[in-house]
Amino acid sequence: MKLKKVNTDQTKGKRVLARVDFNVPIKNGRIGDDGRIVSHLEMIEALSGAGGRLTLVSHLGRPKGKTPELSLKPAAARLEELVKKPVAFVHDCIGDEVNAAISSLKDGDILLLENVRFYPEEEKNDPRFAKALALPHEMFVMDAFSAAHRAHASTRGVAGYLPSFAGPLICREVEILGAVRDDPRHPFALILGGAKVSDKIGVIENMLSKVDVLIIGGGMAFTFLAAQDLNIGRSLCEPDKIGFAKEMLKSAKDKGVKLFLPVDVAVANEASESAKRQIVPIDRIPDDQMGLDIGPESIKLFCQALTGIKTVLWNGPMGVFELPSFKDGTEAIAKKLSELMAEGALTVVGGGDTAAAVKAAGYERAVSHVSTGGGATLEFMEGKLLPGIEPLLEK
Ligand code: AMP
Repeated sequence: MKLKKVNTDQTKGKRVLARVDFNVPIKNGRIGDDGRIVSHLEMIEALSGAGGRLTLVSHLGRPKGKTPELSLKPAAARLEELVKKPVAFVHDCIGDEVNAAISSLKDGDILLLENVRFYPEEEKNDPRFAKALALPHEMFVMDAFSAAHRAHASTRGVAGYLPSFAGPLICREVEILGAVRDDPRHPFALILGGAKVSDKIGVIENMLSKVDVLIIGGGMAFTFLAAQDLNIGRSLCEPDKIGFAKEMLKSAKDKGVKLFLPVDVAVANEASESAKRQIVPIDRIPDDQMGLDIGPESIKLFCQALTGIKTVLWNGPMGVFELPSFKDGTEAIAKKLSELMAEGALTVVGGGDTAAAVKAAGYERAVSHVSTGGGATLEFMEGKLLPGIEPLLEK
């Protein structure tokens, strides 16, 4: 997949609309983790540094109409600190006030528009809204990989009205995730976890014929364990996915994929820090307990299975890592990935929760790539051409 990369030589003096993902946690006007803003700095600094007149557009949360708590204004203030130059802000995305602000931009200036989801037309990819958003500009740069699976006005629609190019963040994501998906070095391991099987069905289907090792942990493992007729107590389970799990277990066997499921688990009667935690073998989960993390024997087994692996893709935590009592499995996998990277393996972590878990465990810089996408990363791995990426393809 070859993308039309933005060329900064072409941007001097041009009015550029750039789609970013500034969907950061904001509480009482203060930004928590600014990682998403930081992830776009390369593009912002390159285009502004080259004399582009840069207008940034992003969504924040899921507002129903104009919601003051979901204003992007605090993001403009944070960006200003990061780029060490003024960042203008307008409380709208289209209309006279916005057009005037764009006309007054000088070479290198940066303007941030208000939360684009304040307009319901955004998520409907309304052509009139997309046109109004695009019209004051001369070119479009898409840099928001994490929003590229949505065919919205600011991710897809505007590309119908402006010459469109890929920003450096999208280019890096497509290059690394593309290498893992289409041309991995073997042996290749896929590690899946998290709450739901249903979110990962497409990934399992697309990747099963490509992987050598498949490790399944987290809440989703219990549907696979139930498919093997094990008693899973009150653990997470998607009964309507047991049939799929059975098929996948058979298909993995037929394809010669080494599939690993937990052999022991940390259980409690509820997902809370105060609940009594115990480790039990996988065939001894008490009826009133739920599995909330993989156990020490599973950690050993999974780490052994990963020894010598050259490419790893990991999506979904091994347990309820948000609670200190149930984070061991997730931390152990993050540590193992860091060891594999030190041995020269390509280690890629995808998905919002997994990225947060790796960061919380202090291994963010010890893996090859932490994808900025959640749903977008999964859909990319399913083999889909994302609607926000399609207009950026080199024809
Ligand atoms: P996902 O978005 O599907 O990757 O799921 C991430 C969520 O799965 C995290 O919030 C974890 O707390 C949760 N999770 C992981 N393992 C379990 C488990 N065994 N039981 C319940 N929730 C889990």
